[in-house]
Amino acid sequence: MHELSIAESILDAVRKEIALHPGAVPLRVGVRIGSMAAIDEEALTFCFEVVVHGTEWETLKLETKVIPARRICNSCGNTFIIEDYNSVCPACGSEDTRADGGDELDLEYLEVETDEAPVP
Ligand SMILES: [Zn+2]
Repeated sequence: MHELSIAESILDAVRKEIALHPGAVPLRVGVRIGSMAAIDEEALTFCFEVVVHGTEWETLKLETKVIPARRICNSCGNTFIIEDYNSVCPACGSEDTRADGGDELDLEYLEVETDEAPVP
């Protein structure tokens, strides 16, 4: 179950971000997951709740967004989104295509609450 280690690395990333903003409390963290990364969103959300539990940020919520996998056609250069694991180029019908991302895991945003006075 690699979702647990992924959840921990997301929390690590949040810690690093928060370290730069003393006094800030993280409320929501958003990640983008490539559909080819073989990450179960529900399992990841559950694991994240587990790793956050017992920290000072129990209210921190994880939001995930799946990015569809793309392929590039080696014959005509067309870029397309894979549906149903069909990797044939829809433009020219070639099977000679290569993956273009799809296994990413990126921190998209981090929403924090600060008790600092707003800067005028
Ligand atoms: Zn093509």
